[in-house]
Amino acid sequence: MSDTVFGFDTNRVHAGYDPAEHNQAVSPPIYSTVAYDFRDVENAKALFSFSEAGFLYTRVGNPTVAVFEERVRILDGAAGAIALASGMAAISYTLLNLAEGGGRILVSPYLYGGSADSFKKIYPKLGIGIDFAKNILDPAKLAEEIRPDTKAIFVESISNPNAILIDVDAIAAVAHAHGIPLVVDNTVATPYLFNPIAHGADIVVYSATKGLSGHGNVIAGLVLESGNFDWKSEKFPQFSEKYYTLRTLDGVERTYLEAFPDAPFSFRIRLNYLNYFGASLSPFDAYLAIVGLETLSERLDKQSRTALTLASFLEGHQAVEWVRYAALTSSPSHARYQRDFKKGAGGILSFGFKGSEAQREKFLNAISLFHYHVNIGDTRSLIVNSPRTTHGELTPEEKALADIPENLIRISTGLEDPDDLIADLEQAFVTAFA
Ligand SMILES: *Cc1c(COP(=O)(O)O)cnc(C)c1O
Repeated sequence: MSDTVFGFDTNRVHAGYDPAEHNQAVSPPIYSTVAYDFRDVENAKALFSFSEAGFLYTRVGNPTVAVFEERVRILDGAAGAIALASGMAAISYTLLNLAEGGGRILVSPYLYGGSADSFKKIYPKLGIGIDFAKNILDPAKLAEEIRPDTKAIFVESISNPNAILIDVDAIAAVAHAHGIPLVVDNTVATPYLFNPIAHGADIVVYSATKGLSGHGNVIAGLVLESGNFDWKSEKFPQFSEKYYTLRTLDGVERTYLEAFPDAPFSFRIRLNYLNYFGASLSPFDAYLAIVGLETLSERLDKQSRTALTLASFLEGHQAVEWVRYAALTSSPSHARYQRDFKKGAGGILSFGFKGSEAQREKFLNAISLFHYHVNIGDTRSLIVNSPRTTHGELTPEEKALADIPENLIRISTGLEDPDDLIADLEQAFVTAFA
């Protein structure tokens, strides 16, 4: 693992890949292979006892996927990383790895719709209780919501669709005071806008489907670990349990902490959950994600600039009730934006449509340049009525808790000319109120 002294922009195009190890190929090759020949019996023994690093079978590891893992690991300053087939796989393997066999997760109410819905419906059936926090914006009071069997706190650094910026430092301090890790879903921010580990996060998850790969053409996810959390704690016996599969060359059984002291969390996901539940990222998809990642900084800069332009346009518009975007001085997240998000507030903003439901629907039908669908972080701008689509699973009470009013419209900015986007919004407003 070559942690270098290079800056972010250098790493996002170079880190984790050496052409000399791949026939001098400049662009990382797609290793479309299921398995890897053992050189000899000694090599097979070394790989199976983890005394030599290498590849066995693409479900658990692949050289193209490994470039992607290593690149994002270095960008986020993490100790370990694992890429998976989707953001949902990253979240589910993380929560299972933390709370398998029982326990609770204290979660932010400001979440991706799929996360909120699975937290409500699936995890409780697996014996993992989910508590939606009431005080995520008031970390001083959050400690009251931690129970004896709470295993972690889970938040999104920039929430979707509301673009609320969470105080990761303060929440990490609360988690650590109670001996539990903080998991941050950093999908909307991407490693470019926010580094959760530098702000105290222990585990970082991504949907790489979104801004990280950024072209709306691949489903992918990642889990990263800081290397700072003490997994020896009795709250997490799974890391101190001896496994026959982790035995040394001499046949001595080991724990994840003994076999992989630098990155026990991600190795345990790889060898337990990825190995046996199997949500592997394909080498081709890893390749697409690597190519997308090469332009991360430029895309996020432009998307943040355009989002601010659109937010300012909307804030002054007579057909708009309110606008939520952290870079606006009117935003409740503005102070956090100034403190923690010096490169921008990202491409997600939302606004309240001032008009009837019929006018709102006319507005959406009149939009022509924006795409109308459920995704974010694409090169193409997207617009969507979240309460009826991306967050349509939430009941009216849950929408109230998550602060998603019925007239909310979410925008994810792409790379178009901002003037063209404003013109499209304006003609749709005119049509809606004609
Ligand atoms: C999309 C998204 C996910 C889920 O990721 P997939 O790659 O679609 O499985 C998780 N968290 C956030 C914040 C997202 O936007």
